[in-house]
Amino acid sequence: MKAPAFAYRRPDTVAAALDAFAAAGGDASYIAGGQSLVPALALRLQSPAMLIDISRIEELHGVRLEAGRLRIGALTRHAEALTDPLIARHAPLLHEAAPHVAHPAIRNRGTIGGSVALADPASEFPAMTLAMAAEIEIAGPEGRRRVPADAFFLDLYQTALKPGELLVALHVPAIGPGHRWAFDELARRRGDYALVGAGILAELQDDVVAGIRIAFLSVGPTPLRAMAVEAALTGGPLDAAAIARAQAALDQDLDPLDDDQVPAAMRLHLARVLLGRLLGRLMEAA
Ligand code: FAD
Repeated sequence: MKAPAFAYRRPDTVAAALDAFAAAGGDASYIAGGQSLVPALALRLQSPAMLIDISRIEELHGVRLEAGRLRIGALTRHAEALTDPLIARHAPLLHEAAPHVAHPAIRNRGTIGGSVALADPASEFPAMTLAMAAEIEIAGPEGRRRVPADAFFLDLYQTALKPGELLVALHVPAIGPGHRWAFDELARRRGDYALVGAGILAELQDDVVAGIRIAFLSVGPTPLRAMAVEAALTGGPLDAAAIARAQAALDQDLDPLDDDQVPAAMRLHLARVLLGRLLGRLMEAA
């Protein structure tokens, strides 16, 4: 199938993009890398009267350190998470997750902002914003605001973005000397959406877990933090007994539904196995 007809605008600034959305009476969609939107148009799952191409907006590009935080422009491509040295250094969970996102052709076009704005619960980058305690910068008709990732993902494909608002950038706290991290996922084939995935960012002081954030993908309607597991691990050493306690606590955090791919009990089991592997890697790194 082909996409229905649409008008097309390519503004140069955030303000012009917001104006174009308002002028279309809200019957418009921003397009970034097009790797999710174009298939949706072709399948006629969406039919906005206007596409607003944000790819030429300079402010949405670029990766730089700002006051101890890494600012990652919304238009940063998935592939740049593999190659950008600042992302590798200061947002290593994005770097480690990137090879698992789709395939090279999609990673060359798809943007990190587009992935987070879409908020597919099976996507890697949205979940990693939770693990990294990122803030999401949003521009809208009423001005700018930053929303913590913890408050951004509301429900299935629903975020704190209101209609017409633009995701401008992610702001990620830079990595410190005591930080350790690990990402992995279980998928039927490489490049497929994960059956279960998770990323962990921990801060260790004298081998004790001073802080830890654990985020799962593909286990519910949104990316999810495993807060009972985080509480079980915080304040103690990361050893085999702690890992077993953390795996047992996972039932309190995750309550996946049965679906036609995997029964709920199997998904929970896979999540527990993955959690054990990732914590084991952190223990070895410590
Ligand atoms: P677009 O497709 O351009 O836009 C997606 C949505 O986000 C649209 O609603 C658009 O209006 C909105 N949007 C985009 N940018 C902004 C912004 N700055 N502000 C506000 N709204 C915005 N993803 C994964 O995470 N893991 C996978 O394994 C994976 N596998 C894939 C396999 C295939 C075959 C395909 C086609 C896609 C796959 N994807 C996967 C999705 C891919 O990563 C998309 O690129 C990404 O989800 C969306 O980014 P985009 O820049 O292409 O956004």
